[in-house]
Amino acid sequence: MANIDDFIRPKEWVSDFVTDIGKVLREWGKDKYMPVRQQIDEDWRDHKLVKPLLKEVLVDLGINAAFFPAEVGGTDIPETCTLVCILAEEGGRIDSGFTVAVLCSLWPMLPIILKPHRNMELLQDIGPKFCGETLYVGCNAMTEPSSGADIENMDRMRGKTIQTTAKLIGDEWVINGHKIWPTNSGDVANLYGVVCTTKKGSTDLNDFAFIYVPADAPGVSMGGPYQKAGMAADMNTDIWFEDVHVPKSYRAHGPGDDLKYFTEMITYGNMASAAMCLGVMKNIYEIIKRWTTERIIAGKPLKEHSMVAAALSEIAISIEATSAWIHMYCREVDHPEIYGTDPWSNKMAHKSRGLAIFASQAVEKVCSTAMDYMGSYGYSREFDVEKHWRDSKMIGLWMGGLGLKHLENARYWYELETL
Ligand SMILES: Cc1cc2nc3c(=O)[nH]c(=O)nc-3n(C[C@H](O)[C@H](O)[C@H](O)COP(=O)(O)OP(=O)(O)OC[C@H]3O[C@@H](n4cnc5c(N)ncnc54)[C@H](O)[C@@H]3O)c2cc1C
Repeated sequence: MANIDDFIRPKEWVSDFVTDIGKVLREWGKDKYMPVRQQIDEDWRDHKLVKPLLKEVLVDLGINAAFFPAEVGGTDIPETCTLVCILAEEGGRIDSGFTVAVLCSLWPMLPIILKPHRNMELLQDIGPKFCGETLYVGCNAMTEPSSGADIENMDRMRGKTIQTTAKLIGDEWVINGHKIWPTNSGDVANLYGVVCTTKKGSTDLNDFAFIYVPADAPGVSMGGPYQKAGMAADMNTDIWFEDVHVPKSYRAHGPGDDLKYFTEMITYGNMASAAMCLGVMKNIYEIIKRWTTERIIAGKPLKEHSMVAAALSEIAISIEATSAWIHMYCREVDHPEIYGTDPWSNKMAHKSRGLAIFASQAVEKVCSTAMDYMGSYGYSREFDVEKHWRDSKMIGLWMGGLGLKHLENARYWYELETL
C-alpha cells in the first residue's frame, strides 16, 4: 500500500542520517504536537502551548544545534539545504505555522553559520546561546510598513526604501527603525537579524547592512500579536528600535557581503517554503486517502468514483512534482562544486522563487480539492484540512508575495531589463 514515504525522495542524495532526523521530528509530532494541534489555533496571543513545544524541538531535539559548528557547541550537520527541507517537510506535515517559527529561529543565522563564510568571532558569542539547554530563538526582521516586497526587491529598489538605519558611532552600531510581521517577534525571539541601511535613501548596495540585535537591548520594544487567518504558532508583532546600541562586531560581515549572504537567506527561505507546502500536501494526502476509502457514496467508497479518482491523482502528481523539484534544487545549493552555482547567487535566489510559487499554488489547490471531496467535513475544524488551507495560503504571500516572486523568476529566465 502506497504511503507518504513512497513519494520522491532520492536516497542517493538524502542521507539516511538526515532522513532519520526527519523521522525523529515526525515521531515527536505524532506524540506531542498532533494531540494539541487544534488547540494551537486558540493559542495565538499567549503561546502558552507553543513556547514549551518550541523548546522541545529547538533545544531537546537539537534542531538549533544541528546548524552550528562544533567549536561553539553545535553538531554541524552537512548538506544544510537538504536538512532544512527535510525538517520543513516533516514539520509542514504537522503544522506549517509551527515549522516557520522553528526554522525562522535559524534563518537569520545563516549568513554567519553557512560555510564557507562563517563568522567565527560572532559565533563564539552567539553560538553557545543557541546550543545551550535554555530556549534561545532567532528572528529575521526585514519587512517594514511601507512595503515588504520593495525591501526584498534588491535588484531594482537597491535598498532605497529601507527606513531602518544603522549608524556606526565609535565601536557601536546605533539602530533606529520600525519592523513589522517578523516571525518570532513579540516575546518569542532573543535575537533579531535586522535589515538596515547605513545611509537612508541610498541605492548603493554596500549600504545594505545585516546586524544582530539582542531582543533585550535598551531601546527595543514591540507591539501585541497580530491575529491572522492561520499560522497561530507563528507570533508576529511590530518591533521598534530607538537608539539601540550593539557592538560593531554584530554586523554579519560588511559592505557587499551582507547583501550577498542575505540573498542566500532568500534562497533558503524559498526552499523551506516549498518544502513546508510539500509537508502540508503529504498530510492532506493521508487525510483524503483515509476519507475517500472509508466514506461510502452511492454504494461504494468515494475514491472508486472516476471523478474523485482523477482529483486524487492530481493530488499525488502535485506531491511528486514538488518533491522532485525541491530535491533537485537542494542538490544545486548543497553542491556548488558540481553545479557551479554559488548558493548566494541571484541565479539561485531567482530560480528558487519559481519553485516557491509552484509549491504554494500546488498546496492551495490540493487543500481546496481535498475540501471539495470531503464536503462540509473538510470545512470543519475536526479534520484539519481547513487548518492546512488557512495556514498554507500564507506561504505564497510572505517573502515578497506572488508579484515579486514572479518578477524575480522571470528576471533569471528572460533577462528582463525594465522590471
Ligand atoms: C505569517 C507571516 C510570517 C512572516 N514572517 C516574516 C519574517 O520572518 N520576517 C519578515 O521580515 N517578514 C515576515 N513576514 C512579512 C512578509 O514577508 C511580507 O508581508 C511580504 O514580504 C509582503 O510584503 P507586504 O505585505 O508589505 O506586501 P507589499 O510589499 O505591499 O506587496 C503587495 C503585493 O504587491 C506585489 N508586488 C510588489 N512589488 C511588485 C512589483 N514590482 N511588481 C508587481 N507586483 C509587485 C507583491 O508581490 C505582493 O503580491 C511575515 C508575514 C506573515 C503573515
